[in-house]
Amino acid sequence: MTERGLLIVLSGPSGVGKGTVRKALFEQQDVNLHYSISVTTRPPREGEVDGIDYFFKTREQFEGMIANDKLLEYAQFVGNYYGTPVDYVEQSLQNGKDVLLEIEVQGALQVRKNFPEGVFIFLAPPSLSELENRLTTRGTESNELINNRLQTAREELEMMDAYDYVVENDVVEYACARIRSIIEAEHLKQSRIAERYKKMLEGNKC
Ligand code: 5GP
Repeated sequence: MTERGLLIVLSGPSGVGKGTVRKALFEQQDVNLHYSISVTTRPPREGEVDGIDYFFKTREQFEGMIANDKLLEYAQFVGNYYGTPVDYVEQSLQNGKDVLLEIEVQGALQVRKNFPEGVFIFLAPPSLSELENRLTTRGTESNELINNRLQTAREELEMMDAYDYVVENDVVEYACARIRSIIEAEHLKQSRIAERYKKMLEGNKC
């Protein structure tokens, strides 16, 4: 039987750079990870492709997925639904593949409940003021929206203790290296290796 893959959940406050870190990680040639593409009701941004960046759905379609238990988790964020299709995650894990979710904190807490064996990584800003700086220099959003996002971010920072690891996003490249070290270490956990040997020995019983 194939050893189950790891479910890696990359989460953290709004504006911390989860998407940037995730994309940089997947651009690395030798990374052996599978990205779970989310479903969302938010309209595509310029350059975004359906089935690559997200699966773009209507609210009705999304609510249908909720009703049919097709989502591992879902959350509403700034007026839109976001969720993780459960089938892809389950099948990949069963086939021994490591799957990475890049999701906001409410969703991560739901996954923690359903998949306590997952690896939960909190991507943290170097400081709250740095976060503020990043949010305000985006320059595309109203002050009210920025203030809402900051308030949310303060609350989300308090949620750090629900995670197994905290990775500071000071430099994207360093953050990626830290995430890769975590995944490597998780594969070397005594419990995982002991299980593998146990199965091997059981398979060789005379
Ligand atoms: P954006 O609209 O900027 O692409 O994403 C907004 C937020 O939604 C980000 O924090 C992103 O990590 C989060 N997100 C993306 N996909 C999912 C998902 O499947 N579930 C949850 N809970 N959050 C998601």
